[in-house]
Amino acid sequence: MTDNGKQAFRCGFVAIVGRPNVGKSTLLNALIGEKVSIVTPKPQTTRHRILGIDTRPSCQAVFVDTPGFHRSQPRAINRAMNRTAMGSITDADVVLLVVEALRWTGEDQDVLDRCAESGLPLLVAVNKVDTVKPMTRLLPFLESVATKADIQEVIPLSATRGTSLERLREAVFARLPEGPALFPGEMSSDKDDRFRIAEIIREKLMLRLHQELPYGLTVGVDELERDSHLMRISAVVWVERSGQKGIVIGQGGSQLKACGQAAREEIEHTWGVKVHLQLWVKVRKKWSDSERALRDLGIDLQ
Ligand code: GDP
Ligand code: MG
Repeated sequence: MTDNGKQAFRCGFVAIVGRPNVGKSTLLNALIGEKVSIVTPKPQTTRHRILGIDTRPSCQAVFVDTPGFHRSQPRAINRAMNRTAMGSITDADVVLLVVEALRWTGEDQDVLDRCAESGLPLLVAVNKVDTVKPMTRLLPFLESVATKADIQEVIPLSATRGTSLERLREAVFARLPEGPALFPGEMSSDKDDRFRIAEIIREKLMLRLHQELPYGLTVGVDELERDSHLMRISAVVWVERSGQKGIVIGQGGSQLKACGQAAREEIEHTWGVKVHLQLWVKVRKKWSDSERALRDLGIDLQ
């Protein structure tokens, strides 16, 4: 409370951390109510640090989606992703650890240890409770999680179904420090249209290419022109070897066409305009082993 009895505004950063694939990005999108971070069933989908901003009359929570922590880090991209994930804890006011219901692995323990070391208020979201049958199996798991460290609240939820999100929001808001808003109230993400469009295209490629997906694949938007009715986009899909071009393009161009169509539909739906999308596939040699190339592509190396 302030001197005049009004409730003070609260604002702060909330680091969403957890091993790959527990549903961090899905949870961020559910909290913000739009897709700010892409989601696929594969680990290592999120490569960048992405902010999702939730502004209310009395507070602003800035959620930070991170690439998951990885135990093995043989390549530069993995090392960069780990540094990004750790950096977000250092800057945070609250840590939100996401785990999967009924699954506690060595990687979960590693991440929990790092969260506990930070000394920050720690909340644990036990996600994917929709997969638990019968529900009675959940209680002992929640109890065992609660005793693993100094955890302020353990909140079972389902990011895909949207259950218990309000309880989580309240738990987060209550722990934000007092302070003015850091971002304009209407801003939901720190990323611009080019980044979000490139990510949507990458999501569609990841979803369609499955096991065949080239490891070092990235997407960059080269040109973006927009008026009130139409968006013209030209984007490049970068791969590491010329042999991978064929995989991305597919028989007679079928894969690339289908990915482009799915991306176009989502962009049209999200931005509410007609979209003309051109996709090119180009080779950039071994970029994921070169930190310079990572920097060129805008991946945080910190
Ligand atoms: P991240 O790597 O932690 O960011 O995980 P993602 O958000 O990319 O999600 C990984 C996978 O888990 C995707 O296939 C999601 O659809 C799925 N997933 C996320 N939340 C839930 C949930 O509440 N229930 C179920 N059944 N699946 C979920
Ligand atoms: Mg993610």
